[in-house]
Amino acid sequence: MRVYKKESERLKKVQSIVKSRFSHLGINKKQEITRLLYEISKKESTPPLSIIQDLDLKNFDKIKQCLLKRRYPFAHLNNKNFKVYLPNIKLAYSSALKNPKDIKFYPKRLFIERSASHSNLASRFIKSFRNASVFNIKSLKDYLGNNRNFAIEDYNKRCDTVFITSQIHDLFKRCPCTKNAIGCNYHIFNLSFGCMFECTYCYLQEYTNVPGLIFPANIDRFFKAFNSYKRPGMRIGTGEFSDSLMLDHITEYSLPIVDFFKKYPKITFEFKTKSLNIDNLLKIDHAGNIVVAWSMNPQKIIDENEFFTPSLSKRILGAKQCAEAGYKVSIHFDPVIYFNGWQKGYKKVIELLFNAIKPKHIAWISIGTLRFNPNVKKTIEMRFPGNKILDQELVIGFDNKLRYPYPIRHQVYDFMLKTLSKHSGKMPIYLCMEETSMWRGFKDYLKLP
Ligand code: SF4
Repeated sequence: MRVYKKESERLKKVQSIVKSRFSHLGINKKQEITRLLYEISKKESTPPLSIIQDLDLKNFDKIKQCLLKRRYPFAHLNNKNFKVYLPNIKLAYSSALKNPKDIKFYPKRLFIERSASHSNLASRFIKSFRNASVFNIKSLKDYLGNNRNFAIEDYNKRCDTVFITSQIHDLFKRCPCTKNAIGCNYHIFNLSFGCMFECTYCYLQEYTNVPGLIFPANIDRFFKAFNSYKRPGMRIGTGEFSDSLMLDHITEYSLPIVDFFKKYPKITFEFKTKSLNIDNLLKIDHAGNIVVAWSMNPQKIIDENEFFTPSLSKRILGAKQCAEAGYKVSIHFDPVIYFNGWQKGYKKVIELLFNAIKPKHIAWISIGTLRFNPNVKKTIEMRFPGNKILDQELVIGFDNKLRYPYPIRHQVYDFMLKTLSKHSGKMPIYLCMEETSMWRGFKDYLKLP
């Protein structure tokens, strides 16, 4: 695997330089210098030795300042007290995802909880994946009790294993949003866990501790429990811990969900997807309160970061077909990724979108720039050593997540909101997981659904 080899050689070179030139430093300082040299060398495609050639290697504080300034020029210019995350770097061949562009989904093992063994969902999985071995287990909890160790290598192989379960707990919850941000009053219908797509930025790669994808067979239990959870006018949706429609041709979750929400015309249910798996939706009647959402990005970002997902034009086609079938659609520009040429890239997405879909068919649009918990950075690095998203300036933000510096985020929202306003009319547009001051700055453009 060429990319892994290239990055691991770069890291070895950096480590050898730090060992020979910075032997006087303690372990933590060496770690910080190693990370900064590695990241600068990767971002600028520069040999690591050339980065330190004019520096006074005796003075750690000065070297660190120089390297921070070079690694984070924009953050440095705007706020001298910016905080960064400089953990130890580890690259391992076994953790790197091999050929993410050639993924196919065909699980090798189906583990079915005893209580779900006679379910239609279990039969549909068995029928769809006839070569998979089928195992009956007492429960997922019991299975995990005997198989506790879970590493990045297991996450890479998660699509080999499917668990069909009966879910009892955590059926719904309020979206926790993020610390110190303005929320959008969303609720999560917690149906299925794990995703077959491979987005470089996905938080699930660090959050997951189950070696497979989980699909509950007892959707009726959700419906029963919903009667005591529901609130008038609420927005609720699947797609928080998975992609709502990626396997809908097998799970067929959309059929009972759309039917169930006919009883609650004042509640809006959202399917969130990057897939084009909408055949079930197109063949059924609905009550007008179902929203089908697509996450959109320029094709360059999809090619580099959203492996195994449909192209931008297919996503727009899916949204158009749903709109023609009377569904409302919603669009999530999330995560917006900052790259060379981002304005042109996102402008084109917005134009393609509004060329295909009339504003009256769009229920809402959300915008959120790239962010994740600091630990995700190490996982991205190990799984996607050649990724470009980490080359940008990601600093510790208001919620302790890694984010672009405030002025970059401001610039992105300003551009997106002004470009959208040329097409969008008065539709609700909101920022996802953003701080109050950012909202205040754009109050004339923003509206919660
Ligand atoms: S589609 Fe969503 S859930 Fe799936 S890998 Fe991408 S970001 Fe994660």
